[in-house]
Amino acid sequence: MLKFWFITGSQFLYGEETLKTVEADSKKIVEGLKGLPFPVEYKLTAKTAGEIEDIVRQANFDEECAGIITFCHTFSPSKMWINGLTLLQKPWLHLHTQFNESIPNEEIDMDYMNLHQSAHGDREHGFIGARLRAKRTVVAGYWGDPAVQGKIAEWQRACAGARFSKKLKIVRFGDNMREVAVTEGDKVEAQIMLGWQVNTWPVGDLVNEMNKVTDEQIDALMEEYKKLYDFATDDIETVRYQAREEIAIEAILLKEGAHAFTNTFQDLHGMKQLPGLAAQHLMHKGYGFGAEGDWKTAGMEAIIKAMYPGGTSSFMEDYTYDYKQQMILGAHMLEVDPSIAEGKPRIEVHPLGIGDREPPARLVFEGKAGKAKALSLIDIGGRLRLIAQDVNCEKPFIDMPNLPVARAMWRPEPNFYDGLECWIIAGGAHHTVLSYDVTAQALRDFTRIMGIELVVIDKATTPVSLERELMMSDVIYARR
Ligand code: MN
Repeated sequence: MLKFWFITGSQFLYGEETLKTVEADSKKIVEGLKGLPFPVEYKLTAKTAGEIEDIVRQANFDEECAGIITFCHTFSPSKMWINGLTLLQKPWLHLHTQFNESIPNEEIDMDYMNLHQSAHGDREHGFIGARLRAKRTVVAGYWGDPAVQGKIAEWQRACAGARFSKKLKIVRFGDNMREVAVTEGDKVEAQIMLGWQVNTWPVGDLVNEMNKVTDEQIDALMEEYKKLYDFATDDIETVRYQAREEIAIEAILLKEGAHAFTNTFQDLHGMKQLPGLAAQHLMHKGYGFGAEGDWKTAGMEAIIKAMYPGGTSSFMEDYTYDYKQQMILGAHMLEVDPSIAEGKPRIEVHPLGIGDREPPARLVFEGKAGKAKALSLIDIGGRLRLIAQDVNCEKPFIDMPNLPVARAMWRPEPNFYDGLECWIIAGGAHHTVLSYDVTAQALRDFTRIMGIELVVIDKATTPVSLERELMMSDVIYARR
């Protein structure tokens, strides 16, 4: 279980009694941080440089510690924080809060002022963070305020995602689709920046694993499919073949400790069907998936699912437009995650024009309405760029009875044409992770922790402002 450490800044100047109160108040703040996705533990009221250095060393090497939260109840001179903070290898949140919500009329005197002085002490603390060019998240406001706790929660999710990323293994069955540019990328850079271990397994190994799958294993998975999905086909053998593929893929992922995988319709040697239902149900279980060898989208999807367990996200592809309705139709040849489904998905079997294999079983459904983000991780040359566009998903305005795949429809921000222009200008791929959960703050925190570029396209973005921002970031990253 991940934990977050709470460290309060102070000093000896105010005497023992004040320090006792500082510690007691800090513990009350920590107890009051309820409803966060991960627990916070009070660790220390720091009074010396040695104490700070010690606690940072412990945090760096503690497996469970996913980040530290600091707050200065009193003034805590920041030169004593320098040696500790320059060693820090875990994410840092500076919580600029104050124990008391209001200023009391009768009670206030100079003792009170010297105790409740984070307005003063936290500015000293903020300065040293800025002076060190430290990667930190700053959250300001009363600690009991749900909006403040919401920001701490999103930072915690970003930290959990960062930690998951650093251990992420991605299994590639076959290579990227031939000649495609955007699904390529520097895997060494991805491992340096994100920690991802991206390696290839031959499809023949997967076929061997498929041959080991027993009828009993397939029976058990078919029961699970029956609970979750409606069978809109009599072709049970085809569905069972997908179950065989799913069991074999998962066996390899489990053996390798991997949480994401890719495949490609161009390399299905020895397989009768492109995995459709198999890939969809694996995404539903929390694995990241990328089609056509798209390991960057597979990895991002696994991270988003780790940040928001049980959430609503899918591998997605921008497919076709309706200019009159100003909507994008998203789908894939098969592999859309049923976690975004409105209603119960149907298992159907249809021919697939691509890949030269037997008609595969797949889940067909409509995507949910709601606000979401389309995420695309690209290798822009010299750095990784995560593009995040706000989109508004709606119920498809037509039935499309002859479209044999799961589909979703959305309008991009800031408006249809500008949203499309911004995406193209930024270099966003046709593949995305569509997430209904992730917030702009969590993405900002995550990319800051990992040291990769974030490009946000939201209500406030224009093609002109975006172009300028991208030119600026070329300069910024060139200096690194
Ligand atoms: Mn595709």
